Amino acid sequence: MKSRKKQKNRIGVFICHCGANIANVVDVKDVTKFAGTLSDVVISEDNEFMCSEHGQKMIKNAIKKKKLNKVVVASCSPRLHEHTFRQAVSEAGLNPFHFEMANIRENVSWVHYDTPKKATEKAMHIVRGSVGRARMLEAIGTKNVPVEQSVLVIGGGISGIQAALDVAEMGVNVYLLE
Ligand code: SF4
Repeated sequence: MKSRKKQKNRIGVFICHCGANIANVVDVKDVTKFAGTLSDVVISEDNEFMCSEHGQKMIKNAIKKKKLNKVVVASCSPRLHEHTFRQAVSEAGLNPFHFEMANIRENVSWVHYDTPKKATEKAMHIVRGSVGRARMLEAIGTKNVPVEQSVLVIGGGISGIQAALDVAEMGVNVYLLE
């Protein structure tokens, strides 16, 4: 069996202030310094608003300048900006799945606002975990699969029948189960 030669990890870590949202509680500079000491991390930087154009440019420039092959952003929930950053790393030539996001806003600064020292320590642990995950990431692709647009409505009472009619009017196949 052919074995794929593994590239040496070159990880970039980018820590977001989110204005005062994170930086008023977490010592972002300390977390940035800490991230820079982790193995395989070749650059660690912070930015006021990482999702801004300026923040994304910072990541893209670092990917090119430092030949990064993995990126970690410590900021908000992946629900909010994972897509933004995957897009940014892919525009800089990386596989978008060579990206890992650490949530130090919802999971840290917003819930530990009254204990900043502990919050900073927790942020460091989370960043260390994300760097660990980033080390193990492997490039994958995406594919489109056809989705059958059909709906099962359970119950043939007035509301069931009405729901089935409404969905059918939208051009979707409906199965009404009585
Ligand atoms: S990336 Fe998230 S945490 Fe950072 S500025 Fe944007 S919204 Fe705030």
